[in-house]
Amino acid sequence: MRCFQELKILFVIYRWHAVVSWTWDAHDETCGICRMAFDGCCPYYKLPGDDCPLIWGACNHAFHLHCIMKWVNSQIPQAHCPMCRRE
Ligand SMILES: [Zn+2]
Ligand SMILES: [Zn+2]
Ligand SMILES: [Zn+2]
Repeated sequence: MRCFQELKILFVIYRWHAVVSWTWDAHDETCGICRMAFDGCCPYYKLPGDDCPLIWGACNHAFHLHCIMKWVNSQIPQAHCPMCRRE
């Protein structure tokens, strides 16, 4: 059983590293809506201490959550990705 537990821990560490290097890659990129860097905050960032999370669409384009919410609300009834026009 000990072997199995070690394997599980290794798997968790590997996944954690994968996620960290993946989000790190996004730091050099900018939001397709507001053109602000992902390691900064979007122009709609209002409350101090408020979080400005990133969101990835099905097409793998990433945006600030606040930016895409504003975009989707202005695109009713059908919202498309502002970068590639996919739904
Ligand atoms: Zn943005
Ligand atoms: Zn924001
Ligand atoms: Zn897209």
